[in-house]
Amino acid sequence: MSEKTIFKKIIDAEIPADIIYEDEHCLAFNDIDPQSPTHVLVIPREEIASVADLSSEHQALLGHIWSIIPKLAKRLQLDNGYRVVVNCGKDGGQAVDHLHFHLLGGRQMTWPPG
Ligand code: AMP
Repeated sequence: MSEKTIFKKIIDAEIPADIIYEDEHCLAFNDIDPQSPTHVLVIPREEIASVADLSSEHQALLGHIWSIIPKLAKRLQLDNGYRVVVNCGKDGGQAVDHLHFHLLGGRQMTWPPG
């Protein structure tokens, strides 16, 4: 069996995280190395390695996550806007092999991203 990812360990409460939201399908916690004043990670409880592993069976879960993100943004008072980033694979800069959505806000974002 492959080793648990750090996010699976957070889901299983084996390591601590600054969890700001959770429900039966997903949880959200502050990134340990924030890249903006607000930097939250939203992850599904289900172990899905990356965007590359998504299929139609995940539609309901993804719809749920995308309904939670704007609620969190509102709660975090990101009224001027924010950015949602999902890195995929090596070239995408993904470091943790558990699907996650970065919710970044609190400063002006730039484009193109690095
Ligand atoms: P990515 O590069 O898209 O895979 O993003 C992984 C993110 O997880 C990075 O922004 C890390 O700072 C963050 N991270 C890694 N370990 C932890 C942890 N224990 N608690 C919170 N965030 C973490």
